[in-house]
This record gives sequence, structure tokens and C-alpha cells, in this order.
Amino acid sequence: MTRFPVEAYTPGFGDPVPRHRRNPRRAYDPAGREITPATIANSMENGVVALRVECPCGHEAEIPIERFPPESFVPDAGLRLRCERCGAKAPKIEPVWPRVSERR
Ligand SMILES: [Zn+2]
Repeated sequence: MTRFPVEAYTPGFGDPVPRHRRNPRRAYDPAGREITPATIANSMENGVVALRVECPCGHEAEIPIERFPPESFVPDAGLRLRCERCGAKAPKIEPVWPRVSERR
């Protein structure tokens, strides 16, 4: 289970978006309105230390979160990345939370 920041559950904004026009990197509320994603800065405040990058070829890496622009959206962070092994673009990314034992 992935733990999402609290703001992932806030209601969306604007008009409902039809299913076929939705952005796969955005969440939508039950009414179909787009929910503003967490930014890199939000995630750092919430304790995320890195983004785990997974490619369909099986290559995985963790990139320290401070290497991303603070104002950019977390779901878009993978867009600028390319797999080191197979060269595929925009691998899947996931926030990395520290282990409970490592928290201060
Ligand atoms: Zn790959």
C-alpha cells in the first residue's frame, strides 16, 4: 500500500472531466473534477525523502527528492526522466517514505 499525502483526498476543482479526456497522471474526485497534485515541496514537508523510479524493463532507482524543482508536481516528475538501462521515457514513479524507525 502506498500512503498518499492528505491533500490527495481534497475535492477537485473546475468542471468534471469526461473519462476519456482525463490525464493519466492526475487524480479525479468522485464527481470527475481534477484534483491538484502534491508538489515536490509539499512532499518534502510531508517527509518524502526520494522518488522511486520503476521502468517496465525491471530497472529501479531512487532519486533524492531535492533533485527535482520544488514547484513541480510529483506525478510529472517522471516525465523528464529516462531509464538508464533501456532508454524508455517517463518511467513510473512513487514517493519514498522513510521507515518509521528512521523518523525523528
Ligand atoms: Zn528500462
